[in-house]
Amino acid sequence: NWDLILYVNLELINRTSNRRFIVKEMLGQGTFGQVVKCLDTETNDYVAVKVIKNQPAFYHQAIVEVSLLRALNQKYDPDDQYNIVRMLDYLLFQNHLCIAFEMLGQNLYELLKRNNFRGLKMKFVRAFSKQILDAMIVMGNAGIIHCDLKPENILLTPSVTTDAAVKVIDFGSACLEGKTVYSYIQSRYYRSPEVILGYPYNTAIDMWSFGCIVAELFLGLPLFPGASEYDVLQRMVKILGGQPPDYLLREAKNSAKFFKHVGSIYQGNEVHDGLGSSYRMLTAEEIEVRESEKPKVVKWYFPQLRLDQLICSYPWKNSELTETEKAERVILVDFLKGLLKFDPNKRWSPLQA
Ligand code: ADP
Ligand code: MG
Repeated sequence: NWDLILYVNLELINRTSNRRFIVKEMLGQGTFGQVVKCLDTETNDYVAVKVIKNQPAFYHQAIVEVSLLRALNQKYDPDDQYNIVRMLDYLLFQNHLCIAFEMLGQNLYELLKRNNFRGLKMKFVRAFSKQILDAMIVMGNAGIIHCDLKPENILLTPSVTTDAAVKVIDFGSACLEGKTVYSYIQSRYYRSPEVILGYPYNTAIDMWSFGCIVAELFLGLPLFPGASEYDVLQRMVKILGGQPPDYLLREAKNSAKFFKHVGSIYQGNEVHDGLGSSYRMLTAEEIEVRESEKPKVVKWYFPQLRLDQLICSYPWKNSELTETEKAERVILVDFLKGLLKFDPNKRWSPLQA
């Protein structure tokens, strides 16, 4: 929304903020700049300040982040009920755009790491999933695609009670539905099949990432930790069974990088298990691995199991499960299958989920 972006830009230039922040420690670092923990001298609260590099491309993307988050916070979630990070202020400091956020806790990747990459208890998987879905419903209402959902961008809230809670952060890659500009988006492990294949995308790409996150919370490790996009696709095919539908492979612009047309066996498009499809995936020998993506060691973190076996037999050694645990896992598999549908049109919406 260019009006909104222009508005934020003008406001930023014309406004002077009296707010003073005292930098305390480093919280995170990325290509955009850094996130630092600061003391807000006005309120005496700690805040997290994202300091953006003073280069036009980063500045511009951060203005988009501010614009979208402003709309989300003020218009779509005024009472802070839907687990989206609150933006407290933004200002220019020595040509650096600085965005102040409420101070949150560890991200979910750090949480899993601290847990030695063992999965979380089902009650946490369920609670966090529900909370992330609430945020996604609001994002959907606002027509916003996050484009970078992953455990690093889900943060624990500093706990006031014993109930753990999370919030979605980092709208630095987000865009408006119908105004999708970039084709190289999402972090590789969480990248949807339509983005890999180069097909027009919508909010359904966030649902794919969400499915990957839910599985990872339960398993402790990423579901599709591919060293290249081809590797990620291959893992999807092996774990989920099936492959992207024919219409997607026919129309997507990168299909030929990964799939070979083997002739129309069926006329219809209702082929989801790969059997009877007009396409087959290229073999590892056939594929031209791009120089930049040449693996790095390709390692299977997991036994090469189908999704249902992966979930139901976790942690893959003889362990006794109660009847309740068994039943919960069957439900989790069903849930994941709704989220991880190759066909974006058939993938569940946040509300359905
Ligand atoms: P990037 O675009 O580089 O991913 P993020 O907004 O995701 O930037 O911030 C990078 C990291 O900084 C996060 O993964 C998180 O660990 C930390 N961080 C960001 N915002 C906050 C916050 N509000 N509270 C605490 N830590 C934060
Ligand atoms: Mg991030």
